Amino acid sequence: PLASLQDPSLLKTDALIAGRWVAGSARFAVHDPATGRHLADVAKLGPADAEAAIAAANAAWPAWRNLTAKERSILLRKWYDLLMANADDLGRIMTAEQGKPLPEAKGEVAYGASFVEWFAEEAKRINGETLPQFDNNRRLLVLRQPVGVCAAITPWNFPLAMITRKVAPALAAGCPVVIKPAELTPLTALAAAELAVRAGIPAGVLNVVTSDGPGSVEIGKVLCASDVVRHLSFTGSTEVGRILMAQCAPTVKKLSLELGGNAPFIVFDDADLDSAVEGAFASKYRNAGQTCVCSNRIYVQEAVYEEFVQKFAAKVRTAKVGNGFEEGVNQGPLIEEAAVQKVERHVQDAVAKGGRVLTGGKRLGGLFFEPTVVADASPEMLCAREETFGPFAPVFKFRTEQEAVAAANATEYGLASYFYSRDVGRIFRVAEALEYGMVGINVGILATEHVPFGGVKQSGLGREGSHHGIDEYVELKYLCVGDI
Ligand code: ADP
Repeated sequence: PLASLQDPSLLKTDALIAGRWVAGSARFAVHDPATGRHLADVAKLGPADAEAAIAAANAAWPAWRNLTAKERSILLRKWYDLLMANADDLGRIMTAEQGKPLPEAKGEVAYGASFVEWFAEEAKRINGETLPQFDNNRRLLVLRQPVGVCAAITPWNFPLAMITRKVAPALAAGCPVVIKPAELTPLTALAAAELAVRAGIPAGVLNVVTSDGPGSVEIGKVLCASDVVRHLSFTGSTEVGRILMAQCAPTVKKLSLELGGNAPFIVFDDADLDSAVEGAFASKYRNAGQTCVCSNRIYVQEAVYEEFVQKFAAKVRTAKVGNGFEEGVNQGPLIEEAAVQKVERHVQDAVAKGGRVLTGGKRLGGLFFEPTVVADASPEMLCAREETFGPFAPVFKFRTEQEAVAAANATEYGLASYFYSRDVGRIFRVAEALEYGMVGINVGILATEHVPFGGVKQSGLGREGSHHGIDEYVELKYLCVGDI
């Protein structure tokens, strides 16, 4: 699939440190999850390379922070233009290594690039403050200054967007970055880095250190232990987030964490059911269920339960599973064997505990899994507690609003939540009662670049995107000027 790129020079397989492409002393293989075919061998870096990348970022910092906001903005805007101009090739690279259908991959390129556009604009609005003095001989000011060298560790499910929504605000604020992309999807990250180089982002300001699984753990330790690195942003599992948080404690690093979710999707009996079916389908099966905001548990009020599950199952039966490069496919493979096994385990557990399979339920060979709907789900099932991260929708029945909200909140996670209702009072009551960072009301998809994306409880710390997204990368400095 990579033979047909319009610009084959976007296919980079070396890491980027201090503006130079670094081959490393070993390589690791990247595969296409749809076919199992070998795609490329990428530089496998180690701890010494991570140290070199941190040193390069630190060396590049003074010149980068001393550019004017407008100069940084112009460079970011050039990067955005190049990402968009190369959207077809970036989409192909992404589908090849990640598996999502090509139209969805191109959608992610536009979404990922939109953070670069947005933060190119926000770069010019990192305003300070003047405060009223408590003594007329003084003047009080607040500066907002770049935090320093930043590290970003990113996952495979959004190979571009999870990078740009960390890197773009960091760069806008005047911080250099070291990126450690997911070992399953480094090619999209390296292609985006090549476009940053072409855009004129100076050497050392954006570094990419690639490695395989065990190498990633070693590099993670170096990034966390470094006192030069002042901020770590991570998107991935809650389990790894906890490890990184602990590793960052000795250097008291600022942290942004976007971790797991266990999104509830509640359908009240006053909902527009057809709209709820569309929303549940979009929310559940996007990226084959592999996003942290995919609904994991669907709750439907008893009076509309049977009608909803039948309509929903009928909709899910229309899904076309296959290689993401094939026309009309809207569900690709899962990312790896362990992911397929987790979905299988959750489905089998649900069936063993009384779940009623309405559609799907089985592996399709390779890394493909049937889009699955199981009715009569119950709180004892694994899927009620754990994030499935795959194309399996368990549907629970509830009686009252209070019961639905209590069930939705009965988790340590708090990222995205969704509900459908046409009752204005209920909309406010439920939206306020859900312990989640994000609530979709009569919608199944809610992310965009100018809204604060993030979670509460064990789903993370901080917000990405929107004008709040810059806050993670700046420190406030209070100036108290006397003798006026
Ligand atoms: P996912 O559930 O998305 O696979 P992970 O949390 O396992 O997410 O991985 C997300 C990112 O974290 C990847 O870039 C991976 O290489 C990296 N990673 C995984 N474990 C560690 C670790 N112990 N230290 C540092 N990075 C890690």
